[in-house]
Amino acid sequence: MSINIEKINKSFGKTSVLNDVSLDIASGEMVALLGPSGSGKTTLLRIIAGLEHQNSGAISFHGRDVSYLHARDRHVGFMFQHYALFRHMTVSDNIAFGLTVLPRRERPSAADIRKKVSKLLEMVQLSHLANRYPAQLSGGQKQRVALARALAVDPQILLLDEPFGALDARVRKELRRWLRQLHEELQFTSVFVTHDQEEAMEVADRIVVMSQGNIEQTGTPEQVWQHPESRFVLEFLGEVN
Ligand code: ADP
Repeated sequence: MSINIEKINKSFGKTSVLNDVSLDIASGEMVALLGPSGSGKTTLLRIIAGLEHQNSGAISFHGRDVSYLHARDRHVGFMFQHYALFRHMTVSDNIAFGLTVLPRRERPSAADIRKKVSKLLEMVQLSHLANRYPAQLSGGQKQRVALARALAVDPQILLLDEPFGALDARVRKELRRWLRQLHEELQFTSVFVTHDQEEAMEVADRIVVMSQGNIEQTGTPEQVWQHPESRFVLEFLGEVN
């Protein structure tokens, strides 16, 4: 499902956070929003999810204007840092959560939810941990549960905020590879936020570099790396190297 973002503006009080941001994302594309802290990445992701609303501008999915739809009605899967796993729920119940809160007419039966959860557990290779609680899992396992939870509603759009953050280097690498694999298998459109250029280069089909509420450059990892279009991009890439 394609995503069209047209001239989005967003301020919090007097602080302008996104300035006329426009971006087209093709169906099945995996895009990284890359930039330093405070550049507006998470706000843009939250606006795509419908968790936050723009002050002006429009957003559509596959040609359908969703600008004023509630998050619940956008059918996107998302994984945000502060939507951590529910501590008092087992792995299975965490994964089932998105299905149990669907509007009644779309909610599967309890038996179908169980089937779905067991399929997702297999997909993320956590069937053996179905009845554990989050506190009994490693960081990488928790991220996989969070991803399975996001995938439970069969989203055609998957939004991820720093999906590999707070993990050690080895687990991070493993998860990146695994997310790419899943993406190839399920063909969803995906947007993820990162401040780590290596991560963006390795995982994304296309990179959107942001600075102070503006898009500085978009391009394939090679294009951005080899032909930075502004001083900011050049310095941002250079800094981390
Ligand atoms: P990033 O994800 O690139 O770090 P954010 O989108 O989180 O950037 O934040 C961009 C700017 O918007 C920051 O200056 C942040 O302080 C501000 N901001 C984000 N959310 C809110 C909010 N709910 N209220 C006020 N300011 C906010």
